[in-house]
Amino acid sequence: MTPLQRVSKSPFGRMPDGTAVDGYAIRNGRGTSMHVITYGGIITSLKTADRAGHFADIVLGYDNLEGYLKATPYFGAIVGRYANRIARGRFTLDGRTYQLPINNPPNSLHGGTRGLDKVVWSATPFESNTSGGVVLTYTSPDGDQGYPGKLDVRVTYTLDDHDKLTVEYVATTDKATPVNLAQHSYFNLAGDVDKDILGHVLQLDASRYTPVDSTLIPTGELAPVAGTPFDFRKPTAIGARIAQKHEQLRFGGGYDHNYVLDKSDSALRHAGRVVEPSSGRTLDILTDQPGIQFYSGNFLDGSITGKKGRVYKHRYGFCLETQHFPDSPNHPAFPSTILKPGERFQSRTVFVFGTDK
Ligand code: BGC
Repeated sequence: MTPLQRVSKSPFGRMPDGTAVDGYAIRNGRGTSMHVITYGGIITSLKTADRAGHFADIVLGYDNLEGYLKATPYFGAIVGRYANRIARGRFTLDGRTYQLPINNPPNSLHGGTRGLDKVVWSATPFESNTSGGVVLTYTSPDGDQGYPGKLDVRVTYTLDDHDKLTVEYVATTDKATPVNLAQHSYFNLAGDVDKDILGHVLQLDASRYTPVDSTLIPTGELAPVAGTPFDFRKPTAIGARIAQKHEQLRFGGGYDHNYVLDKSDSALRHAGRVVEPSSGRTLDILTDQPGIQFYSGNFLDGSITGKKGRVYKHRYGFCLETQHFPDSPNHPAFPSTILKPGERFQSRTVFVFGTDK
C-alpha cells in the first residue's frame, strides 16, 4: 500500500509586488482535509464529514488570492500582533506611549492596517505517521504598525488522524511589547455555507464575560453571564436569544464579546463546543488562553461573494477566537499580554471535528 501523502504544496497566486503565495493541502487518514496559504496563514478551506459521512467545507473564504487581497473580514487568518481591539490604538509601556493605526474607528483592530493576516509567511511542511501540517514563520520588524520590538512569530498547524487540528503559537521579541495571537476562521458547520448559523447549538465553559462600550472596548468589568443572553454554560442555539433587548447585544449587533474562560490556569482545557443539528457536525475547542471571542458574524451583510459563488449573508458564519482579553494593555487588572525580551510566548488551541453520532 502506498503511504498516504498528507501534505502537498501548490502555487496560490502572487502579491501585487510579485511575491509568490503558496498553498498547502493537508489531509489525514480519515479523509478530513484543509488548505492553508502563506498569505496571512489563512485556512482557506476545511472539509469534514457530516453524520452520514459526506464531506463539506465548513469555513468561509475565497476561491483565490484576489478575493483575500481585495476585502476580507479576516476570513481564516492568523490575526496579530494584537488580536481584537486596542482602545484608540494607544497604550503606554515602560513610560512610553505608542500609537497604532486606527483601522476600526476609533480603535485599532487585529494588529492594524497591515497585520499578520496581510503578510506573506515562510512555510515548512511536515508529516509523521499520524499527522501532517505546516510551520509558518514571520518576523515583524521593530516599529511595525507602531508596535515596539522585532517580533518573531511561529504558527504551526497540525492535522492528525483523530480529526484534531492543533494551532501552536510561539513568539519572541527584543523589546517589551503586547502580543495576542488568534485564529480567525469563520465556521458554518452545516457545510458549504448556504444558511445562517443561528441554529448551531453553542456551549461555552465561561461564567463571565467582558462587557464592552459602544465601540466594543471592554469596560473592565468581568460580569456574570447568569440570567443574561450571554449564558452559554448549557448548550443553547446561537439564535435563541440574539434578538433580545439587551444593551450588550445592541453594542455588538449580536454576539461580539470576549468570554472569560473558567479554570484560568495555563493548561490546555476545554473551552467550548458547537453542534450543528442538521448535519450532526460538532466542533470542540480546547485552549490554554484565558479568553474566547464569540462573534456571530453580525457584520456579514451579503456584500461578499465567497467560495463557489456563495453569498455570505448576515450571520452566515461565526468565529470562536481563543485569545487574551481585548484591550488588555489598557487594563492592568486583565491577564498581562506583555512579552519581554528573553521570554517566550507559547500557546496552543485545538479544534476537534466530529459528529453527534
Ligand atoms: C471582531 C469583530 C470584527 C471581526 C472582523 C472579530 O474578531 O470581534 O468585531 O468585526 O473580527 O473584523
